[in-house]
Amino acid sequence: MKHGVAILGATGSIGKSALDVIERHPDRFRVVALTAQSNVAALLALCTRFRPDLAVIADPAHGKALRDGLAVAGVPTQGLGGAAALAAAATADGADTVIAAIVGAAGLVPTLAAARAGRRILLANKEAIVCAGGLLMEAVRAGAAQLLPLDSEHSAIHQCLAGAVGTRGGVRRLILTASGGPFRTRVDLTGVTPEQACAHPNWVMGRKISVDSATLMNKGLEVIEANWLFGFAPSIIDVVVHPQSVVHSMVEFIDGSVLAQLGTPDMRTPLAYALGFPERVASGSDSLDFLALGALTFEAPNRARFPCLRLAYDALRAGPAACIWLNAANEVAVEAFLARRLSFLGIARVIESALEQAPLHAPRSIDDVLQEDTSARRRASALVVESA
Ligand code: NAD
Ligand code: MG
Repeated sequence: MKHGVAILGATGSIGKSALDVIERHPDRFRVVALTAQSNVAALLALCTRFRPDLAVIADPAHGKALRDGLAVAGVPTQGLGGAAALAAAATADGADTVIAAIVGAAGLVPTLAAARAGRRILLANKEAIVCAGGLLMEAVRAGAAQLLPLDSEHSAIHQCLAGAVGTRGGVRRLILTASGGPFRTRVDLTGVTPEQACAHPNWVMGRKISVDSATLMNKGLEVIEANWLFGFAPSIIDVVVHPQSVVHSMVEFIDGSVLAQLGTPDMRTPLAYALGFPERVASGSDSLDFLALGALTFEAPNRARFPCLRLAYDALRAGPAACIWLNAANEVAVEAFLARRLSFLGIARVIESALEQAPLHAPRSIDDVLQEDTSARRRASALVVESA
């Protein structure tokens, strides 16, 4: 039986890599639904190539342009506009697999809809699990859905743990690897530009996650993601900088054994792992050339130069509301930095100040989460203005 796949965020970096893997396996996968934020031309091009049943453009202003474009191209895809229609894509008939690859908390509602509808969710959208980990995991359980990570670190841990069925209690430590980003060795971070921050040494990614990698917030979000996905306490989740990005993460067991997952830095590998699970399918990635690599190195993250990592651990320990505030303030700060309204060093300062106002009580519903998210964005936006 062919798997029907819905891709939320199809025009992005993860979306494109996912379609590259899917296109290699026409016998296994069929594209059922595709979504994008506002790039109608890119979405139309994908519709022409993959002929999904449904295409959604989140920005409602572009709904008509999408429908007109589909008609002109003679593509029999239904076109919808508006953020509310993202949930329709996430629960589209005939799609048993949903790739959650929207960036930011904007992906939360459709990802939850997929969970409630019992889909197999391949999760790239880490912000969704950071702001609503408890509710998402609960929806996965209630909907008898399945959640598989796409983040390369979590895919690595998933693979290391799958090789250790029954010994979960024997885990001593999760070791998330971090490339260290473009500023690993740069001492003075004043005057950093968006172009410099987005020039990642090993991965080509969307702009938001590229900035997160430069501040190490990406690793902080991944610590929170690992906590929810695998159920391990923050005290046993470690971060190690590994500039080559070849060891994607590791699990240490109480007997001293350490399992690692290695591969070239290519998101098609975790995508193929999750798409094919439990079978292995080809991803198109290159073989790892150990002789060309020569050495794999490891070092401690510099927590003084990259305070976002500490802020994420603090938020995780403080509770779910703090995690929502951390994520929202980060989204606002990164957007301001990319628009040259905030300095690179200002990102951590805005988040730290915003977190001082995060409430302690845990959100009980998705509406609570969205309300906290709105409050945090308002506070962070004010802090950005104050910092100017
Ligand atoms: P991207 O910016 O390249 O793509 C984002 C996609 O989401 C696009 O299709 C865009 O149209 C859509 N989108 C953006 N804002 C939206 C909104 N408000 N509503 C609906 N759709 C919206 O980002 P990316 O690099 O592909 O990252 C996507 C997610 O995957 C992020 O959460 C990121 O942290 C995670 N991730 C990415 C990588 C990577 O290598 N790129 C690796 C690990 C995890
Ligand atoms: Mg990652």
